[in-house]
Amino acid sequence: MMGTTTEGTTTEDYLLSAVCGPAGGCGLSHNASRVLPVANSRPAVSPWQVVFRCSFFLAVAPMGVAAQAPKPVFTHADTIRGSNTPERAWWDAAFYDLHVKVNSADSSITGYNTITYRVLKPAREMQIDLQLPLVVDSIVQDGTELSARRDGNAFFVRLITRQLPGSKKTISIYYHGKPTVAQRAPWDGGFVWARDSLVRPWIATANEGLGASVWWPNKDLYSDEPDSQRVAITIPDSIMDVSNGRLRSTTPNADGTTTYEWFVSNPINNYDIAVNAAHYAHFSDAYEGERGKLTLDFYPLDYHTDTARKQFQQVKPMLQCFESWFGPFPWYEDGYKLVETPHLGMEHQSAVAYGNHYKNGYLGRDRSASGHGLKWDFIIIHESAHEWWGNSLTMKDAADMWIHESFATYAEGLYTECQEGKKAGAEYTIGQRKIVRNDEAIIGVYGVNHEGSGDMYDKGANMLHTIRQLVDDDTRWRGILRGLNKTYWHQIVSGKQVEDYISRQSGMNLSKVFDQYLRTTMIPVLEYRLEGQRLSYRWSNVVRGFAMPVKVTTSSGVSSWIRPTESWKTARVTLSRPEDFRVDENFYVVPKDLLKPADSTTVRKAQ
Ligand SMILES: [Zn+2]
Repeated sequence: MMGTTTEGTTTEDYLLSAVCGPAGGCGLSHNASRVLPVANSRPAVSPWQVVFRCSFFLAVAPMGVAAQAPKPVFTHADTIRGSNTPERAWWDAAFYDLHVKVNSADSSITGYNTITYRVLKPAREMQIDLQLPLVVDSIVQDGTELSARRDGNAFFVRLITRQLPGSKKTISIYYHGKPTVAQRAPWDGGFVWARDSLVRPWIATANEGLGASVWWPNKDLYSDEPDSQRVAITIPDSIMDVSNGRLRSTTPNADGTTTYEWFVSNPINNYDIAVNAAHYAHFSDAYEGERGKLTLDFYPLDYHTDTARKQFQQVKPMLQCFESWFGPFPWYEDGYKLVETPHLGMEHQSAVAYGNHYKNGYLGRDRSASGHGLKWDFIIIHESAHEWWGNSLTMKDAADMWIHESFATYAEGLYTECQEGKKAGAEYTIGQRKIVRNDEAIIGVYGVNHEGSGDMYDKGANMLHTIRQLVDDDTRWRGILRGLNKTYWHQIVSGKQVEDYISRQSGMNLSKVFDQYLRTTMIPVLEYRLEGQRLSYRWSNVVRGFAMPVKVTTSSGVSSWIRPTESWKTARVTLSRPEDFRVDENFYVVPKDLLKPADSTTVRKAQ
């Protein structure tokens, strides 16, 4: 395979470049969470060390800050990008009508976006995001060209006509230029101008983190999605474009190009809008799901059709498993699609980007080192899980990206469970603990487009697996996962809303559990002493007030709940041998036998 996913380059090599590469420098380190470490890989330099070094190098940490977690430094530009500024807050995107001509000959684009919006408050200035080096040609409202001041990657448009609250208005932004080229998509972001193995054009976009404004003008803020969107992409006749939603029309133009008009009839994240243009084959299928017939459309490169027909058979069992755990697929109107891309993959809504080389595992490897991860295609499973977690339920702020990644990673364990049973699913998720770094908190900094630790994947999944143990009732747990999807169907949510929902529905106040796993880097330590039949125990390394119950072996073959706090408690146990005492490994905690000399091997095993 050609293109940017250079054959023979390891994931670690990718990360090295993705983080420190020419595209964005080290400043993109937080976006490197797209790259997932693999449990059984032991590169000479850990990929995560690279992230760490980079962000440390970049952050210019003030004196006295612990080297382990350098504090990120944010700029005026980060606030403009990541917060609901006054020039954004007064308008609500209703419809994006995007038209882009993609010129592969010189890697440039030309286009416009007509934004229909609801006026929430009177205003004189409107923020539209479009990243350098793209150039705005004109901005037009009510037949008049408007002036704007540029502040980095944002335009502040001076409005002339009255913005009457309650009314709907439109504004058109015409632009052109050579958009940022992604050097290591999907981990940095921008356009990918690749070639397939027959040296034919293979074009794609990927821009989570960096933002959709890297190639088209919009309100580049997670918390405002349009109700629907048109994506009309004009490309040379020789290739076809697959974007999001449904193909409404294909129009040949006189200049040797064709316009593919796609329409998304649901709210959609800006970063999910994608161009995928190549020599695609197309085959279809249908799935009888919870809301009736769901169309399935597959777009492999033409010479991969036979391989794709085999590998993509994993889609139906995936849908069956995820619908049973999460509720109906969220986009029956727009359909399910898989589109082969020159980059590894991305959860582009209703047009999931697929670049896993038709291999099982994550580029052929098992991130969990449990063996189970090689039985299915990581990109099909993980990226499709985002249709529920990330696309239907969308985080309000990048700091809460765990809503997307913790649940999508947890979904991998559930998929394993659907295929191989509950024990296998648990083994998969538990296996992922080995790649948790505990470098910084999972929740990032709000208002500056900042993602927290990459632990949002594997540690987040293990937090959810632990909460499932606390709920201790799979029917109820399934009800919580389905209930989240039903309650927040096609909505923007904060992490706190998700936390509160789970607490409410489980009948337990889990706020300390969420604080512990999402807001600190500490893994709870269950300290204990077993003296005869007397077990003493308490939590350490926990947030104040942490009192999570946990299951332990209290007599041979019998496990029971204990309710440790930060204070010592005792219980009677009847174990014939002290070694028979076990903390249920489904709980992501570290057991520590205080009567045993320190043994790091034991602790590691328990993790
Ligand atoms: Zn993901």
